[in-house]
Amino acid sequence: MNSRPHKGTSSQGWRLGPLGYHGSIVNSEFDITFYKMDFSEALEKIREDERFKKAKVVAIQLPEGLKRKVGEISEKLWDKDLIFLGDPFWGACDIPTGGNWDLLIQFGHSEIPNLGKLERIMYVELQEEMKFEIECDRIPFSSLILTSNVTYSSKLPSIKEKLEKCGKEVILKKGDSRVFYPGQILGCNISAARGEGQNVLFIGEGVFHPLGIALGLTNKKVISFNPRNGEYTDMEHFKRKFLNQRYNAIDLASRAKMFGIIVSTKIGQTRFSMASTANRIIKQSGKKSFLVSMDLIREEELINFPADVYVNTACPRVTIEDYQTFSKPVITFYELQMSLGLVDKSKYILDEIIMTDEIGSTGVRKRD
Ligand code: SF4
Repeated sequence: MNSRPHKGTSSQGWRLGPLGYHGSIVNSEFDITFYKMDFSEALEKIREDERFKKAKVVAIQLPEGLKRKVGEISEKLWDKDLIFLGDPFWGACDIPTGGNWDLLIQFGHSEIPNLGKLERIMYVELQEEMKFEIECDRIPFSSLILTSNVTYSSKLPSIKEKLEKCGKEVILKKGDSRVFYPGQILGCNISAARGEGQNVLFIGEGVFHPLGIALGLTNKKVISFNPRNGEYTDMEHFKRKFLNQRYNAIDLASRAKMFGIIVSTKIGQTRFSMASTANRIIKQSGKKSFLVSMDLIREEELINFPADVYVNTACPRVTIEDYQTFSKPVITFYELQMSLGLVDKSKYILDEIIMTDEIGSTGVRKRD
């Protein structure tokens, strides 16, 4: 199975973790969300990596806000043929296929363990080093499960300690094999938030991750704390609003005659077996469907297909965050089952990715 490198080692995909970055709210150098990366240190460590030394052609994948660092990277890694990948990417699941490179360096995400060994990939994480305090009285739970996205995962043990000193019972647990750190939540996986009885505290910016927890665990209360602006948000309102939108989409899907089923070509998002099952159950219901294989899922690419509704088996984020950018309803596999009357509609089921299919391999994946 997966052999796990230690933090800072280079056997499979070393990560700089928290040491390589310094928090900075105002950042005049580049406007990536909230980080100021010490690239010098990062790039020095990359230079020391044996795989980098051996590589001739090196591909670099940067989050949108870091694309301005191309000049600095080119200068520091001057002795290699560098290819900067222009396509957007949102997660470690998103590894380009067919690249003519010896090594891919991906900035900004932790590895996804269940993808197996990715021989030619090096992950350079972004973790936040900003100092912040949690106010115990703002957390209305006596017991809770503590979570965050990768940005704050290194902070969770000390936050747990602080909350426990305030008399709270805190659980910090590792999720399934899709996630790397204890407490870490992905947009496609909330397994670290599951557990009996407790409510959930999420540390991080934005509503996407805590909304996923609230939707997946509808019987729990979810509070999100944003260290950047010090706000505490009860996710109940967002959950209700989003559920209304989803049940509206399910209703539209129940009247649809033709379904387009989207299958991702990204290796960490390919769920062909799910798409195939969707195809079968739609046809068994007397409706029509077809499969569409895509990398970047956008309205422009879908517009000429004759579907009334799309079933998205790629990144769940497309259904949740990008829903309003499509002219046709986009639903999840579970919402499809609800729309066809195959499962009880009263209990909403969140679309999560636990495992992906073997197909879609780039040739960079190697299982033990
Ligand atoms: Fe993130 Fe989507 Fe990839 Fe999951 S599938 S890791 S949510 S980009």
